[in-house]
Amino acid sequence: MGLKALFVEHPMDKTNRVKIKDLHPSQLPQGDPDKMPYTACGPYLKKLFDRAFIDGLHDPGKRPTAGEWEEALLKTVDLMQPCQNPKCWHKWFVFDNTTKPKCPFCGTEYSGKLPVLNLYSSRRAGSFTPDDYRLMVYHNQYLYQWHINRNISPNERLTDEQKKPVGYFVYHNNQWLLINQRLKDLEDKTDGKLIPIGQSVALTDGKQILLSKDEGGRLIIVQMAN
Ligand SMILES: [Zn+2]
Repeated sequence: MGLKALFVEHPMDKTNRVKIKDLHPSQLPQGDPDKMPYTACGPYLKKLFDRAFIDGLHDPGKRPTAGEWEEALLKTVDLMQPCQNPKCWHKWFVFDNTTKPKCPFCGTEYSGKLPVLNLYSSRRAGSFTPDDYRLMVYHNQYLYQWHINRNISPNERLTDEQKKPVGYFVYHNNQWLLINQRLKDLEDKTDGKLIPIGQSVALTDGKQILLSKDEGGRLIIVQMAN
């Protein structure tokens, strides 16, 4: 605390590390930073933890704002992936942006095709720029309005209509599909094909899919992470 405060997981200065022998068994393994480092919270939150507890610990002006925490938490929810080990005590983990994803809680490596959707949005008609926002795909994962348009945020101002899913993902016949539930503009840009409501588009590496033609509307580029 105070002037000499030091982050317990400071990457260089290890003088304030947690002493495992001082922990109660009920505090393990989650209290052991070697087994459960703060980086398990994923890339968006790691950046903010670094600013709060390393750069900004003695300099409040460098700490993230409440709005930045909110945005990072929301983006982190979209990086969550169910662990494939049915006995995993944690069940879910945050994708770590690697090409060989594995659950940090039980060590199980992901097996099979894993599509990661990179979101882009339009700031000028016809051109798309990256939003530093990714959506993980898993069976029965839903797609919402705030994924298809960067001007919509999942907060208390959403209308009832905006809370309804607009599509979902399924694994069927060895491929991942996006099923269109209520997207009027859904288009497979790679194949130049409109995908009407009730139909699906297969997720393959590099595929570009337009989600909305509205202002702020998004395009996804599929990346296979595994
Ligand atoms: Zn696991």
